[in-house]
Amino acid sequence: MTTLELKWRNLLDESDFGTCAVTLPATIGRSSRNTLRLRRPNAGISRQHAKIEIDERGLRIHDMGSTNGVFFGTRQVSSGVLPAGGSFVIGAYEITVAPHIQCANANCSKNVAPDLVICPWCGQFLADAKTRFGTNLYTYHLQ
Ligand SMILES: [Zn+2]
Repeated sequence: MTTLELKWRNLLDESDFGTCAVTLPATIGRSSRNTLRLRRPNAGISRQHAKIEIDERGLRIHDMGSTNGVFFGTRQVSSGVLPAGGSFVIGAYEITVAPHIQCANANCSKNVAPDLVICPWCGQFLADAKTRFGTNLYTYHLQ
């Protein structure tokens, strides 16, 4: 499993902010079924708002059919590559991704740039296999 740290802050309420580590793929939304739940009412967050996953191109964000959309700055996207350390806006929240992900190999667990395909320390393939093999969640080694 690939772990990513996220920071969120409510642009309308400076007391509403936090950090969490999520396992990818991760969903963000108002419902309790999400990996990151943003439950504040009237903040423009849909029950199932967005999903972050990792594949061979790096980190990607997807709009899950939300009412208010996903934005890179002022540009609305249905899907897009998230740069390391980059951020996006959903509803009232700005969400920033850490500049690294944690290698899925438990014997390694080093922090690695999310745009790499292979961990430079142990050779672990960094992408979550979910994007290729439906709902089966597993990671594998190329070595
Ligand atoms: Zn590694």
